[in-house]
Amino acid sequence: MVLADGAMGTMLQSLGLGPGEAPEVWNRDHHEKVQSVHRGYVEAGSQIILTNSFGGSRYRLGMHGLEGEVRELNRLAAELAREVAGDDIVVGGSMGPTGELLTPLGTATFEDLKDAFAEQAAALVEGGVDYLHIETMSALEEVHAAIEGVRSVTDRPITATMTFDTHYHTMMGVSPKQAAEAIGQWGVVAFGANCGNGPEEIIRVIGEMKEVAPDAWLIAKANAGLPRLVHGETIYDATPEDMVNYARTVMNIGVKIVGACCGSTPAHVKEMRKAVDEFLGGAQK
Ligand SMILES: [Zn+2]
Repeated sequence: MVLADGAMGTMLQSLGLGPGEAPEVWNRDHHEKVQSVHRGYVEAGSQIILTNSFGGSRYRLGMHGLEGEVRELNRLAAELAREVAGDDIVVGGSMGPTGELLTPLGTATFEDLKDAFAEQAAALVEGGVDYLHIETMSALEEVHAAIEGVRSVTDRPITATMTFDTHYHTMMGVSPKQAAEAIGQWGVVAFGANCGNGPEEIIRVIGEMKEVAPDAWLIAKANAGLPRLVHGETIYDATPEDMVNYARTVMNIGVKIVGACCGSTPAHVKEMRKAVDEFLGGAQK
């Protein structure tokens, strides 16, 4: 059982990241703030931290005119996390969706996406990540392109999670069962679910994955509830206790890596640490 970290984006927003700003730019311009988020999770007991590079593909950075800075911003993301992690904490290189639809729905080809993920992964490896984490995916083809892209530049381990926020399916209509069956064959060390509409949803999704992939290493990283706008501020309503109950439940289902996603803070992760320790203590008896 390994405890991962919680949200990066939501934390950076609370530190002043503007709505239209690329979080990855902060790896260069506000590195102390990015590292303060990593440090918060390490101090809360995370054994894995993810780099601030979720939107670090040339497509996503291109929305901000930064497509030429993939290498620098991803390398910095990895270096910042590595410096906080030292040798004891594992650093995963975060890679989110490109935002592109594959042909014929969109204009990007499988090879285009593979190239983009290869470029990002190479920079993350250069900066010192231990493994690559593909996350918040909706399309299986994009997960596949990302895995192949990573494979073309490094032998480091790969993990992948999709987001099942549309009636227990991804936005592109992939069920947890389909995801588990497909990704399980693509040579990743672990896969599962992240983000979405909160803990209850991920608990069901992980249960369905477990049924078709009983021996796989599963990952659960739930949002801290749903975002709501209150007086112009985005609030997530899951309390640390809610996240503890979620952690206990998915550990009992059999996940190997448990963490949190949007809306979570080191306060949530600190309580989840206690739940993980309890679980491990119980497992030894
Ligand atoms: Zn999220």
